[in-house]
Amino acid sequence: MLDTLARPLRDARISVTDRCNFRCVYCMPKEVFGRDFAFAPREELLTFEEITRVARILTDLGVEKVRLTGGEPLLRRDLERLVAQLAAIEGLRDIALTTNGSLLTRLKSRLLADAGLRRVTISLDSLDDETFRRMNDVDSPVERVLDAIEGAADAGLGPIKLDMVVMRGLNATSVVDVARRFRNMAHIVRFIEYMDVGNTNGWHLQDVVPGREIVELIAREWPVEPVEANYFGEVASRYRYVDGAGEFGVITSVTKPFCQSCTRVRLSATGEVYTCLFAGKGRDLRSLLRNGTPDSEIRAVLANIWQKRDDRYSEIRSEATAALKKVEMSHIGG
Ligand code: SAM
Ligand code: SF4
Ligand code: SF4
Repeated sequence: MLDTLARPLRDARISVTDRCNFRCVYCMPKEVFGRDFAFAPREELLTFEEITRVARILTDLGVEKVRLTGGEPLLRRDLERLVAQLAAIEGLRDIALTTNGSLLTRLKSRLLADAGLRRVTISLDSLDDETFRRMNDVDSPVERVLDAIEGAADAGLGPIKLDMVVMRGLNATSVVDVARRFRNMAHIVRFIEYMDVGNTNGWHLQDVVPGREIVELIAREWPVEPVEANYFGEVASRYRYVDGAGEFGVITSVTKPFCQSCTRVRLSATGEVYTCLFAGKGRDLRSLLRNGTPDSEIRAVLANIWQKRDDRYSEIRSEATAALKKVEMSHIGG
């Protein structure tokens, strides 16, 4: 099944909550996501059974990989129960999780791995504790995330992808430190250009550190060379250290968009379907899931959404599009 730009449907990002215990400055700034912020009420969140039902229909339509995200997905109690339900879907080849790592204890990693989770991506914006706390803005220590990385690897959830959003003037100085720490390890650091997701993070182009500059910073320490993509639709441009110390990736959504190979659909925690991270509006599925609509009809709705899809936001991004009304990352699922 192809969209209007001939892109197949392959991956689903499923948000399980719009809440988070962090207030990362680039995602959920405190001034907006404060005490009075109205998060989705519990009854509006899809149940694990509803999520599994949508995932099953999506798999039938071509999805091979599901990634659980949020908000912070580990705030959702017993997430391993959902993983077990997803793992039972025939044809679904891969189940992954993106987390800030702060709640990923050794026990949790083991429970998730036992339930069928294959891989985990952990966000890590700096190794410097002070910078890390300034980025998450809730005083959460970096040590806890470093422990989580180790625990997840021990539970068999590796090699782990470590995602670092790079912001000029905030954590750009941590790029080389992070690269150094994970050289010679199986984990793969991916440096992400700061994006204009949503409307609350006060995004300005001058705060973006272009991928090219990130690669130059690293190459000044250790010579690097580009590596071919692993598969169609891989978002990170890969680089390897010439000395054999492994590889890293750069995700250049701003300076070198990859919409042409974007094969992702997103399901928000409250059951809306989005075909682009920068969309303004989603298609409500929750009411269909809750009013007795049969699978065949939900399948037809999803197929129709994908076949009409023409999103390529990053290719047409400008200061003007940045100001358009867009859904927040914590809602749509990053
Ligand atoms: N809370 C989990 C976490 O932080 O890993 C999962 C959800 S979070 C929205 C998913 C990813 O989106 C994180 O790696 C985060 O760094 C990234 N992200 C959030 N806002 C971003 C932005 N404005 N630009 C680039 N990446 C962003
Ligand atoms: Fe929370 Fe993840 Fe957003 Fe940070 S990036 S505020 S951890 S959802
Ligand atoms: Fe996909 Fe939209 Fe990002 Fe382009 S801007 S890569 S279509 S999510």
